[in-house]
Order: sequence, then structure tokens, then C-alpha cells
Amino acid sequence: MTTATLFTRIMNKEIPAEILYEDDLCIVINDIAPQAPVHMLVIPRQPIPRLADACQADRELLGHLMWVVGEVARLYDIEDAFRLVVNNGADAGQTVFHLHLHILANKGSDETFSEATL
Ligand code: 5GP
Repeated sequence: MTTATLFTRIMNKEIPAEILYEDDLCIVINDIAPQAPVHMLVIPRQPIPRLADACQADRELLGHLMWVVGEVARLYDIEDAFRLVVNNGADAGQTVFHLHLHILANKGSDETFSEATL
């Protein structure tokens, strides 16, 4: 038996999170430790550990995640300025080994992104 990832436990409502969007393939939540005024995570229900572990059969899912990024950007009024980040591997800063896309936006702030964000 494999242990459920942190994000799977959030999807199963075992751990609370602010869910901003969900569909049959993914959920979008607020990051618990935001690195920008808006910091959302787009997470597939399927627990692919890293982007580099995705296989050919996952192409439609990966495309769906990118579409959801645009959809939530429109929903939360950040479609004109956001950054999308995927950390792949511990040496790149990945801490949760369940694929997720970080959406970062400076909505409501005059600051611009530094190159080092995430
Ligand atoms: P990574 O470092 O793997 O790219 O990103 C993992 C992200 O998950 C981090 O930005 C971290 O703040 C976030 N995170 C970790 N634990 C929780 C949690 O329990 N709830 C939520 N909403 N986010 C979490």
C-alpha cells in the first residue's frame, strides 16, 4: 500500500485547505505559505510525483492543467500578470512529491517579481 501524498489527503478532505477550483481532474488551492499576494497551487488528482515522471498517457492531463491555469487566472482577475512555476526535484526546491503548478501574482501590490521568486 502506498502512502497518500499531502495533496491527496487535502483532496480527500483529511487536511483542510482553501479550495478555489475543482473538477474531475484537478483542484486549485491557496498555498499555505504564500510567496506573493496571490499564490495558488494547481494539483492533478492523479499523484504524479514530478513533472519528469509524467508519461505519454499523461499528455491530456498536463494540457488540462495548463487550461485550468488560464481559467483560474481569469476567475481571480490575474490574467494580465502572473508567473507559473513548477519545481522538479529536491535540488530545484520541490518539497511535495505530487506534481503541482504554482501560480504567483502580485495583485494589489506595486511590487514587481524578483528573478528569485520561488
Ligand atoms: P514545492 O516546494 O514542492 O514546489 O511546493 C510545495 C508547496 O506546498 C509549498 O509552496 C508549500 O508552502 C505548500 N504546502 C505545503 N504544505 C501545505 C499544506 O498543508 N497546505 C497548503 N495549502 N499548502 C501547503
